[in-house]
Amino acid sequence: ENKFDVVIIGGGPIGIACALEAQKKKLSYIVLEKGCLVNSLYHYPTNMTFFSTSEKLELDSIPFISSNPKPVKREALEYYRRIATTNEINIKLFEKVNSVETIEDNWHKVFTTKAEYLAKNIIIATGFYDIPNFLNIPGEDLPKVSHYYNDPHYYATQKTVVVGASNSAVDAALEIYRKGGEVSMVVRQAEIGSRVKYWVRPDIVNRIEEGSIKAYFHSDIKEIRETEVVLNTPEGEKILENDFVLLLTGYRPNFKFLQDLGIKLSNDGKKIPQYDDETMETNVPGMYLAGVICGGTETHKWFIENSRIHAKMIMNNISKNKKPH
Ligand code: FAD
Repeated sequence: ENKFDVVIIGGGPIGIACALEAQKKKLSYIVLEKGCLVNSLYHYPTNMTFFSTSEKLELDSIPFISSNPKPVKREALEYYRRIATTNEINIKLFEKVNSVETIEDNWHKVFTTKAEYLAKNIIIATGFYDIPNFLNIPGEDLPKVSHYYNDPHYYATQKTVVVGASNSAVDAALEIYRKGGEVSMVVRQAEIGSRVKYWVRPDIVNRIEEGSIKAYFHSDIKEIRETEVVLNTPEGEKILENDFVLLLTGYRPNFKFLQDLGIKLSNDGKKIPQYDDETMETNVPGMYLAGVICGGTETHKWFIENSRIHAKMIMNNISKNKKPH
C-alpha cells in the first residue's frame, strides 16, 4: 500500500540521511527522486573536487574513504550509491513530486509523475541545484549559453566568457584555460570571491595577473549575441568576440514549490522558509525541511557538513509524535 509514516522528497545526500534515520526508528518511508540517485551531485562538473574533507560528507558515521585530501565527484557518487544499495534504501528514481495536498487529520497526499502516496509526514530535501539564477538579459536563451558547466574539453580553442567569481566560475575558468580555451571572466565585484576554495584562489588570482585569463571586474554582461557579447565595464561598453557563455551565478531553491505546499517564506528578500530550528518542522504541521533547501537565497550557508544532522532532528520528532497504532 502507498501509505507511509514519512515521504522524503529528494534523493540527495540529505534525503538519504533521512532514509537511514527512518530505518533506525522503524518508521515506514519512501524517498522520491526526480532524477538519478544523488541527482545534483551527478550533474556537478566532471572534475569537481569537494571543499569538504571526506569525513564531513559522511552520513550516519559510515566511513567515506578517499585517498585524496578532498574527495572528488566520482568518489562521492560511489560513496552515496553504496550507502543506498547496501542499506536497501527504499527509493523511487525518476519520479518527480508535482504537488502535495494536506487532507483530513493532517495526512498528506503526494502526487508524482507516476503515482499517489499518503503520508503522515513529509520531508522536503530538494536542494537548490535545479533552478539557476537567471540574469534576464537578451540572448540568455541562445544554445551557446549555459548555466551549468560540465567538462573543459568542449571549450578547447573557443572564446569563452565565464560570468561569476565564486567556486563554480573559478573552477570552470581555470579548467577551460588549461585545455586551451580563451577565457574571459566577467565579475560584478572588485575581485574574485572570498569563499573560493583557499587552495584554488591563488591560482586564479595569478592567472588573471599574468594575463592568461582576462578578467573584467566591476562589470556585468548586458547582452549575448550569436558571435559576440556586450559588457558594461567601468571604461564603458565593450564588445567581445565570443563562442560560448557560461553564466555561473548561482542557483536557488524552488520557492514556488515550497509556497504551493503552504510553507511561508521570509519577507526580507532572503526568502528563508519558516521552520522550527530544533525540529525542522515548517509552519505546516507534519511538513519538514532537510538539507540545503532551508537557506532560502542564502545557499552558501548550508552544505552537507552542517545539514546532515537535520535527519536525526526530524526523525526524533516524528517518532516522538507517532501515536501507537
Ligand atoms: P541535493 O543534493 O541538491 O538533493 C536534492 C535532490 O532533490 C536532488 O537529487 C533533486 O533532483 C531532487 N528533487 C528536487 N525537486 C524534486 C521533486 N519535485 N521531486 C523529486 N525530487 C526532487 N557541500 C558540501 O558539504 N561540501 C562541498 O564540498 C560542496 N561542494 C559543492 C559544489 C557544487 C558545485 C555545488 C553546487 C554544491 C556543493 N555543495 C557542497 C553543496 C551541496 O550541493 C550540498 O551540500 C548537497 O548536495 C546538499 O544535499 P541535499 O540533499 O540537501 O540537496
